[in-house]
Amino acid sequence: MIRINENFTKLQASYLFADIARRVSAFQEANPQTRVIRLGIGDVTEPLPPACVEAFHKGVYELASRETFRGYGPEQGYAFLREAIAQNDFQARGCEIAADEIFVSDGAKCDTGNIQEIFATDIRVAVPDPVYPVYVDTNVMAGRTGPAENGRYAGLVYLECRPDNNYTPALPSEPVDLIYLCFPNNPTGATASREQLKAWVDYARENRAIILFDAAYEAFIRDPEIPHSIYEIDGAREVAIEFRSFSKVAGFTGTRCAYTVVPKSLKAWDTAGG
Ligand SMILES: *Cc1c(COP(=O)(O)O)cnc(C)c1O
Repeated sequence: MIRINENFTKLQASYLFADIARRVSAFQEANPQTRVIRLGIGDVTEPLPPACVEAFHKGVYELASRETFRGYGPEQGYAFLREAIAQNDFQARGCEIAADEIFVSDGAKCDTGNIQEIFATDIRVAVPDPVYPVYVDTNVMAGRTGPAENGRYAGLVYLECRPDNNYTPALPSEPVDLIYLCFPNNPTGATASREQLKAWVDYARENRAIILFDAAYEAFIRDPEIPHSIYEIDGAREVAIEFRSFSKVAGFTGTRCAYTVVPKSLKAWDTAGG
């Protein structure tokens, strides 16, 4: 008898989106003149920039002729792209990240969702609240939580983000192994200062934890004091994986291109302590 993965039945996401849709339509019925700006699911409103459109056209023509056709690309992504990323997004900001630590992908959603598969199922996971739902749902499906009660899954450590802490969570009061952080944040817009990120990096180093740092909105930072990458913090190379995406900065939500940075000095352990 083939059985389903019953962890999937714990998921609450469909209830959330159904609830948002119900509230929006009730509001619109009651306020037909009001224009609603929907912030429920993030998408962009601007088209691809001309440089990208031109490069896409060129790429299609390359694939259309026998002389220049390429099949599957290298599994970590094309070297020219990984080198440009390492140089312009990291080395130019003083971060010691090499091209062979960059993994190009089809979306930061997929990457932030899939990455948890490499960790044990009995680790303690901390997520900010509110949070980008992908981090939570993939851990639920993987069986790292109990059922949901009052909108929270048993077994997850929730890091409160509220007006009184400026939507930047405090360090957890109980030990955790895997910490999801997203700055600038979706949905709150909060940013993290160098000192705040340093506190997380120090925590992770002291507790042998790993930080999954989602920097999908990095390009929107204007304040020169705010770090763009967690690797601007000393020691982050040992404890942090960073996710970036072209979706929001370059209108790529319909085309999808992203990358994940996994430094060679990042550490996690097996049961033998190795
Ligand atoms: C939009 C978004 C992503 C997804 O990016 P894709 O590369 O389009 O998958 C990841 N993280 C956050 C916080 C986002 O808002």
